[in-house]
Amino acid sequence: MKAVVYNGPRDVAVKKVPDAQIERPTDVLVRITSTNICGSDLHMYEGRTDFEKGRTFGHENLGEVIEIGQAVDRVKVGDLVVLPFNIGCGFCKNCEKGLSAYCLTTANPGMAGAAYGFADMGPYQGGQAELLRVPYGDYNCLRLPPDAREKEADYVMVADIFPTGWHATRLAGLCPGESIVIYGAGPVGLMAAYSAIIQGACMVMVVDRHVDRLRLAESIGAIAINDAEVNPVDRVLELTNGMGADRGCECVGYQCHDHHGKEIPGLTMNNLVKSVKFTGGIGVVGVFVPQDPGGPTQLAKKGEIPFDWGMLWFRGQHVGTGQCNVKAYNRQLRDLIAVGRAQPSFIVSHHLSLDEAPDAYKNFDERNDGWTKVILHPA
Ligand code: NAD
Ligand code: ZN
Repeated sequence: MKAVVYNGPRDVAVKKVPDAQIERPTDVLVRITSTNICGSDLHMYEGRTDFEKGRTFGHENLGEVIEIGQAVDRVKVGDLVVLPFNIGCGFCKNCEKGLSAYCLTTANPGMAGAAYGFADMGPYQGGQAELLRVPYGDYNCLRLPPDAREKEADYVMVADIFPTGWHATRLAGLCPGESIVIYGAGPVGLMAAYSAIIQGACMVMVVDRHVDRLRLAESIGAIAINDAEVNPVDRVLELTNGMGADRGCECVGYQCHDHHGKEIPGLTMNNLVKSVKFTGGIGVVGVFVPQDPGGPTQLAKKGEIPFDWGMLWFRGQHVGTGQCNVKAYNRQLRDLIAVGRAQPSFIVSHHLSLDEAPDAYKNFDERNDGWTKVILHPA
């Protein structure tokens, strides 16, 4: 089969690799029809993780079930399914509690959490390929309603970024009628903004410097803050009578930078502490890593950031972090799409074939104008 394979920093190629297949009786085999490129892929693409050369990317996957293992009960051949980016077993202590991003049995030894085509999250291949092996198929496949083909670009967002954006708002503790500031207008930040609006936030502010992305934020009713033009903390305080937003979300991650592109570890976290009110909540879904040998400072290389802990404590804020437990939200978000209450595909800029992946990675990585979200279509 064809797959998007990592060759080394900023180098991916579409190559022939052995077909994915059923390996255990609980597996399901899916023919992938939509698979997105994610900001998480970019950390790996840029060589800032230890993703293995020759391995396949892709953790935002949707497709048709073409084969099931003998122990699969519920999922049937022909079902259209969207796969959470996390791979859970369903029976460990964490999966049972709904913490499917921290599965204890599918992860690398001593770790919690597994994903398709993801550095340090198990040995699983990604879905930017014609076929994908889905472990524990009954647990990990979410079946889609009859309008699945028509709304495929919406449903594929349920694999990761729609639930992840939603998770950011839940970690922050957003309540209806509250204000929220979101750092990062990439796909995840835009989904956090969209989730906040669906949940009844009174004011949603989104900080970035890419005007194409900020325009999308405005298109759903958020207030765009361009940090190349204004100090984002000052602007948030101005918009909130000097109080700060009730809630804040970090949707950028460890490679956050100023608008000239200079990486400043801790920039978004420290801005959040200053732009969220006393006793407010902060949800951090942007990825941070325990070590970053390619990081710009000695601290960053050890996975540490200069963080204004004193101010966070003084302001009595709380912080929630981590990968999204997609299964905690995916049914509900699928159903919001099914009834027409949500249309997360508004961020999609490109539908491309698998062969176009190398060019798509380059453009999305450079955050080139108009490249807001790419869906690859292997089939
Ligand atoms: P992206 O890289 O396309 O978007 C990030 C955006 O942040 C860019 O538009 C960039 O201009 C902006 N940015 C950079 N520095 C900034 C700053 N100082 N202030 C404001 N904005 C700034 O990526 P994405 O797909 O939106 O993903 C965002 C993050 O979320 C990544 O770290 C990704 O790995 C992570 N992620 C986490 C989960 C999870 O489960 N926790 C799931 C998916 C993605
Ligand atoms: Zn992703």
